[in-house]
Amino acid sequence: MKKIHNYINGSLVPPTGGRYLDNYNPSTGEVYSILPDSGAEDVNRAVEAAKQAFPAWSAMRKEERSAMLLRISALLEKRLEEFALAESLDNGKPLWLARSVDIPRAVSNISFFATGALHFASEAHDMEGKAINYTLRSPIGVAGCISPWNLPLYLFTWKIAPALAMGNCVVAKPSEITPMTAFMLSELCIEAGLPKGVLNIVHGRGSEAGSAIVAHTDVSVISFTGGTKTGAAIAAAAAPKFKKLSLELGGKNPVIVFNDCNWDEMMRKTIDSSFTNQGEICLCGSRILVEQTCYERFKKEFVEKAALLKVGNPADDTSRLGAIVSKQHFEKILHYIELAKSEGGKILCGGKAVKMEGKYAGGWYIEPTVIEGLPYNCRTNMEEIFGPVVTIMPFGTEAEALQAANSTEYGLTSMLWTENLTRAHKMAAQLRSGIVWINCWLLRDLRTPFGGMKNSGVGREGGWEAMRFFTEPKNVCIKL
Ligand code: NDP
Repeated sequence: MKKIHNYINGSLVPPTGGRYLDNYNPSTGEVYSILPDSGAEDVNRAVEAAKQAFPAWSAMRKEERSAMLLRISALLEKRLEEFALAESLDNGKPLWLARSVDIPRAVSNISFFATGALHFASEAHDMEGKAINYTLRSPIGVAGCISPWNLPLYLFTWKIAPALAMGNCVVAKPSEITPMTAFMLSELCIEAGLPKGVLNIVHGRGSEAGSAIVAHTDVSVISFTGGTKTGAAIAAAAAPKFKKLSLELGGKNPVIVFNDCNWDEMMRKTIDSSFTNQGEICLCGSRILVEQTCYERFKKEFVEKAALLKVGNPADDTSRLGAIVSKQHFEKILHYIELAKSEGGKILCGGKAVKMEGKYAGGWYIEPTVIEGLPYNCRTNMEEIFGPVVTIMPFGTEAEALQAANSTEYGLTSMLWTENLTRAHKMAAQLRSGIVWINCWLLRDLRTPFGGMKNSGVGREGGWEAMRFFTEPKNVCIKL
């Protein structure tokens, strides 16, 4: 059985307490590896190593830091297949998805920020003959990066890459549920020759290792992606210590479909935005609002297509949906399907666990599920389910669609399908979400600000936003 180690001060080490956690393969429900159940002592060692490494790493020419990160991304690209297999096994996502999205995106995250840092510039403010101000931006110190299980390496690298590229040292914790590819990345860092202590990866539970990172006095900047409740706990712990925080949290994203849209493209992409990665992407649409005039047509075609999606073994290239990440999450999704029924929802397709055979009989699989007949403000339509479950609802006017779309505590993304340009611009401005995708979904330019409004988060990642976040600005004013 594979044993995962912490990566501290350049070495792969066991947890100081000697305790390990089981790591499950969601496609079979079996334990296939163990990972450190690290505690505060491991985090202290990691932070100390990062502090020791900081002076040299932050003083290094940015071209050298960039070259080091590019070496890591090149090594990752070379091992793409190995990492894709590991990601699929650890998370339950289809192998084709890990191979075409997760790992390529992790490669791009690292190379994007490695090269982006070379182009980064700070501002100057000219006071018309009286004075000139310029902004110095320096690395902050030790950054804490905490990431979730749904896009494990993709979101892990999305945080550590800008932190490292801007000259910080990092103590990171991947989700205890999907630790494998972060562990494999630590092996690549050693191979690439990353100086010891620059990146430290501590595995373990959020309540122990995660909260020790957040609580540590010498971790002055924290980038977190995960659930809204956890985000609130982190914000509460970090606030009295005045730590710099970036929080990317939950979502309950609306999809708004108008009759005048490019129908086939909308249908294809709405199936993707509903069920890709078993619906376990914070950017998935889970409340589909359809203009009354095309509601029946939408319902018939969408349900037909959803029912045809194959749920199966993640290694099988014909599986559109793989396994749900954990037993606990599997039960949570099924619980929400029951809640939907009790609220008066009608299951149009799916609604049940999928029973697999043979080796996969113990795995956690759920049918793509479409529900109608619920009001926009019931619990099923307000709370994040984070699974292959969507509701469909008719609307009459733009105002009604906006009211329903903006009604939740979340504001991460919205999807809008219309060929009417005026309506698209007008509604984009009124949708309360950090991202509005018009006639597309998951079309990402890494330079754009990424993040949510309301309880979907605080701050933005991506491009200059991330580079600014991981630096400390200092205004220098010179009187002329
Ligand atoms: P969690 O909030 O449960 O966990 C996220 C990470 O935080 C994990 O590494 C977890 O460790 C750790 N953690 C848990 N408790 C604490 C704590 N008290 N202090 C510090 N760290 C802690 O989220 P999930 O892993 O369940 O991920 C799913 C959630 O992430 C969904 O709500 C989803 O919407 C959101 N998400 C948001 C995205 C965005 O960009 N806005 C993108 C992707 C997901 P452990 O695994 O041990 O619990």
